[in-house]
Amino acid sequence: MPCALALMFHGIDGPRARAAGYAADPHYSIEAGRFAALLDALVASGHRVGAARDLLDMDDGLPQVWITFDDGDASNLEEALPLLAARGLKADFFINPARVGRPGFLDWAGVRRLAAAGMSLQSHGQTHTYFTHLTPAALREELRVSKAQIEQATGVPVSLLAPPGGRVPRGLVPLARTLGYRAVLGSCPGMVRSEAPAGEQPLPRVAVIRHHTVGEVMRWATGGQPALRHLRWRYRVLESAKTLLGDARYERWRARALGSGA
Ligand SMILES: [Zn+2]
Repeated sequence: MPCALALMFHGIDGPRARAAGYAADPHYSIEAGRFAALLDALVASGHRVGAARDLLDMDDGLPQVWITFDDGDASNLEEALPLLAARGLKADFFINPARVGRPGFLDWAGVRRLAAAGMSLQSHGQTHTYFTHLTPAALREELRVSKAQIEQATGVPVSLLAPPGGRVPRGLVPLARTLGYRAVLGSCPGMVRSEAPAGEQPLPRVAVIRHHTVGEVMRWATGGQPALRHLRWRYRVLESAKTLLGDARYERWRARALGSGA
């Protein structure tokens, strides 16, 4: 396993995506110019930047940064693809087949365009239902059907899974492996190689949201696990709040706390 920082994006906020209409929560969307500046800074600092699919098995000693997107927002195609392609970079896009084609989300033509550009199309579950809310049989179906539908659309094997909302039921990683996934990427902040053993836990990822600056993300990339300590602490506090309040009450509390009224 290489030493990697896995970054998690959602929407990219820019003029093309706004014209097309996009679905991502603005709190989780970063501005297109900032995304471009971040890619440039990561490459300039000597990191190997790309898709987890392509870099997972490459351990040549260079520090890696994986660029991943969750939810299949329309802006992934309109804004992220041109910025990645202009730099010769690849990324992983974790999508939900049941949401493909809905307003604000990628449609299948868009999914195929991403795949044709060499991007990595991966599973975020079939419906975006939190995996902790599913019966074992329904969970298995989410993993199996989403993988099959994405592979059918793109003609490329799906090897990665990212659970919606970072909710990880017991036994998810071994189940994903038996269904043909190579790795599960979660939402707990951390550096990939520092999490030992990788076996039963999802690989860590760090969410990049609107207020994060290029400088902050660069500090995570160069500072490793110690630079992520406050994010891990914050994540654990929020996880406890989810457990205490339950998912529905937690979402209402979060919306109020952010002042979005959503
Ligand atoms: Zn999601």
